[in-house]
Amino acid sequence: MPLDCIFCAIAAGEIPSQLVYETEHVVAFADLNGQAPTHLLIIPRRHYASLQDVPAEEIGIVGELMQAAQELARERRIWPNGYRLVINAGPNGGQTVQHLHVHFLAGRQMVWPPG
Ligand code: 5GP
Ligand code: ZN
Repeated sequence: MPLDCIFCAIAAGEIPSQLVYETEHVVAFADLNGQAPTHLLIIPRRHYASLQDVPAEEIGIVGELMQAAQELARERRIWPNGYRLVINAGPNGGQTVQHLHVHFLAGRQMVWPPG
């Protein structure tokens, strides 16, 4: 795990943050700079710099991130109103933190196209 990765530190509990979801492989917590009434980040505990860095034999972790979204939507009664998931990847994708994460946005009407 890279020593300078903020999301690794959060997953390891080295930076205190309120985890809203926790399994063996996945954690979720509130985004520091929320863009919606609910804005969570769902991340693998293991460090992958981006979606592109997940090896084929470990791609199941992406399903676990989706499962977290499903369960959070159910627990928080966000479904059936709905939500949006976003994975920014690379410079054109607007990725700023180099640890794979899924944005879980809810609580308002989302617009299209995204920025
Ligand atoms: P990206 O732009 O890489 O898709 O998203 C990174 C997200 O991480 C941003 O929405 C930003 O607000 C959030 N973020 C950056 N640093 C921290 C932090 O230290 N704690 C939390 N909870 N969120 C962070
Ligand atoms: Zn990391």
